[in-house]
Amino acid sequence: MNLLIKGGTVVTATESFVADVAIQNGIITAIGKNLNISADKVVDATGKLVLPGAIDVHTHLAMPFGGTVSADSYLSGTRAAACGGVTTVFDYPIQRAGQTILGLINSKKEILEKEACVDYAFHCCITNLNDGEILDEMELAIEEGITSFKCFLVYKKEGMMVDDGTLVKLLLRAKELGAMINIHAENPDVIDINIEKFLSEGKTSAWYHYLSRPEYVEAEADKRAVHWATNLDAPLYLVHMADKEGLETCIKAKENGKKIYVETCPQYLEFTCDVYKRADGRNFVCSPPMKGQESQDSLWKALKAGFIDTVATDHCPFQSYEKDWGKDDFTKIPNGCAGIENLYPYMLDAANSGKISFEKAVEVCATNPAKIFGCENKGSISIGKDADIVIYDKEKDFTVSVKNMHSNYDHTIWEGKKLHGYPVQTYLRGTLVYDNGDFLGKPGTGKYIKRGHCK
Ligand SMILES: [Zn+2]
Repeated sequence: MNLLIKGGTVVTATESFVADVAIQNGIITAIGKNLNISADKVVDATGKLVLPGAIDVHTHLAMPFGGTVSADSYLSGTRAAACGGVTTVFDYPIQRAGQTILGLINSKKEILEKEACVDYAFHCCITNLNDGEILDEMELAIEEGITSFKCFLVYKKEGMMVDDGTLVKLLLRAKELGAMINIHAENPDVIDINIEKFLSEGKTSAWYHYLSRPEYVEAEADKRAVHWATNLDAPLYLVHMADKEGLETCIKAKENGKKIYVETCPQYLEFTCDVYKRADGRNFVCSPPMKGQESQDSLWKALKAGFIDTVATDHCPFQSYEKDWGKDDFTKIPNGCAGIENLYPYMLDAANSGKISFEKAVEVCATNPAKIFGCENKGSISIGKDADIVIYDKEKDFTVSVKNMHSNYDHTIWEGKKLHGYPVQTYLRGTLVYDNGDFLGKPGTGKYIKRGHCK
């Protein structure tokens, strides 16, 4: 045996129990009380939690956007992931008119093969069907393990939006092939009307980023997407859900047995739109924006009740000087915030304080993402799964600062956030990649995950 983690409390999506975990060649081979097995390395986890590594199914690394490129490279983003207990990240490459899915994905794979510090998978954003060729290519992409595709109902001027006809074609094709369509839901026409009005009135602060895309702007698109998916009986996954009205529509569809999946992000659970009134409000600009207290309350309530399937980050940080481009015009602020290293600690802190259970944190950060997106060997501490393991100290206090993060950005919306409890070790397929503040992994050790069909 290569590794034996002894005496910790193993947490799964459904239960917690004290057990030893044995690992051979990167795979969990035995779980049980007082395992009588000798191992090259024994880790004493007494008093600690033994958790599956988190799967961040929503990241934008090295992504060209807003006139620049997101601050984290594949290397720095996956390094930060490892240090936050995330052992698998999903990237969202964006296909443009004339581009093929596999051409795009293979170009990203080439970089990740050299840079990835944790395992990785891809959703592919589809912005143009290339006269229908993409619908054919989806079958090949699925054979290569890309089994989910994202559509933007927004970013019309940027040439990234799909219209309803394209969305319906993609939903039907995905249904036929056992794939998933992921949706970024906001209404671009209404956003444009609002922006034009505010700018003409000289209203240029970050607060107007929120007011140009408030609750009803997201809700309309959420409801439209759910309308098409439920009537076509196609599965649909809504990324970064942030508003109450849209969420309620999803909950109703779920209660009617429809395959509607909901993701939210830590930033929507932690912050409200009030952050945009701050002097540094532009640093919090992301789309959809943080919403009002009522929406935030509805997200926590739905999370506890089992209506939120996953929590992921939408990690897309930009440097201060880039955020500053929009000091006097909120439309010039690159959209996106940091989160990849904060996701799991934040959700586990919520569990440690009794807001949710540890099982719930594991379910939405690891087990559900693996199940929904076809990562058969991931997402749970169970025999036969990859030994992606986080050891968590419930008593360790940690204050987030840009200084103790492992990304490339120069500021973070999580600055000063106090957490009670923190990951102390991360293992990627049985190899220690994070130990008490230090990154120990190696770029290029992360593996591509060829995914199976989506749920
Ligand atoms: Zn995103």
